[in-house]
Amino acid sequence: MRVLLVEDDPSVAGGVIDGLGVGFTVTHVQSGAAALNQNLDEIDVLLLDLGLPDMDGTDVCREIRKTSQKPIIVVSARGDEIDRVLSLEMGADDYLVKPFGMRELVARIRAVMRRTGSGPAEPETASDALREIHGLTVDTRTQRVELNGDEIHLTPKEFELVVYLSDDPGAVYRRQDILHDVWQTTWYGTSKTLDAHIAAIRKKLGAASWIESVRGVGFRFGGPA
Ligand code: CA
Repeated sequence: MRVLLVEDDPSVAGGVIDGLGVGFTVTHVQSGAAALNQNLDEIDVLLLDLGLPDMDGTDVCREIRKTSQKPIIVVSARGDEIDRVLSLEMGADDYLVKPFGMRELVARIRAVMRRTGSGPAEPETASDALREIHGLTVDTRTQRVELNGDEIHLTPKEFELVVYLSDDPGAVYRRQDILHDVWQTTWYGTSKTLDAHIAAIRKKLGAASWIESVRGVGFRFGGPA
């Protein structure tokens, strides 16, 4: 995945470049003007700081949107609602407040790519599409889930949730991120829907331990009891 990182703070940029690691090719520029000079056909996603030395990131966003619909994730120390709203109005696809964890950044990049349909339409090979966790196989190409060889019938949303959580088994996913990424909402009413889906998946997999609750935070993908 080709990332254009627009960030004037060398320590933040270095952290992102090191943290993204394998599978990401990062082009780093330090100003809004340099970002606007890039050929966006050659990148997949932009990570855009708001506080740039020459212009505001929201203006960079607006300029880019005149010619390109490439996914833009604003990455900013400015967490005020006004900055978030303005960025989204200028065409940003998501907003991440510094400091953030690399795992969250990668999850946001993947979610934005999925939402905007910018990711690869089909995984390149059948094996890329297949995950195997403690006897549970999840195939994103055929949309099938099997447990020790027996097919588990999940609803489309349950399937999406299993794919999302099993992307990084053992990692804790925050409730609000799950709602944001899987339901595209943070409306509190959806939280009950999330719990209902988790309960249904646990029942179908035969053990609550497959999706562990992390009290006050969210959920992590586990394994059989
Ligand atoms: Ca900055």
